[in-house]
Amino acid sequence: MPSRSFAPIRSWVFDLDNTLYPPGNGLFTAIEARMNAFVARELGLNLARASALRERYWRQHGTTLAGLMAEHGVAPDPYLAEVHDVDYSVLPPDPALAAALAALPGRRYVFTNGSRAHAQNVLKARELSGAFDAVFGIEDAGYTPKPAPAAYDRLVALAGLDPQRTAFFEDDPVNLVEPRRRGMTTVLVGVEGRADHHTADLAGFLRAIV
Ligand SMILES: [Mg+2]
Repeated sequence: MPSRSFAPIRSWVFDLDNTLYPPGNGLFTAIEARMNAFVARELGLNLARASALRERYWRQHGTTLAGLMAEHGVAPDPYLAEVHDVDYSVLPPDPALAAALAALPGRRYVFTNGSRAHAQNVLKARELSGAFDAVFGIEDAGYTPKPAPAAYDRLVALAGLDPQRTAFFEDDPVNLVEPRRRGMTTVLVGVEGRADHHTADLAGFLRAIV
């Protein structure tokens, strides 16, 4: 039972994609297809080369958008609107997760490398909108994505986080390195990796710690 280590936690920060909904429903695949199409069109590449370039951007810049901005001066907002123009109805409502989130003591936040509008669309489809005090998108991080330390600086300032009283939930272990370094309690969702806790069942995990 991990409940003791969560007793001081009063701020709960959740990644969005593949954390507040599981992979395998096709949503993120659809977004990736739109990112490939955007990169291919803007840079005059075929889809295979666009996909390979996105892989490098992800490694070197954190996201496709950060790579496009740094290396090609692409404007972020039209890109974000285009790649997130997908069908959110593939995401089912999750009343068990909504109830588990609502029972957490303190404030709850979403912190995503996607746009704020994307996060709001996901929460609406999952019927989780009411569970969060604020949603922070890549716009709020000054378009600097996780895992860059500057992204977390923005989050900490915006939400007024005390790291010792903050739990951070993510499906990507790379994005937990900085929260761990700052003394936040880290939880990896869906995968194994370096973190304080792991779970394959986020709602069940949250129910167990309160
Ligand atoms: Mg994620």
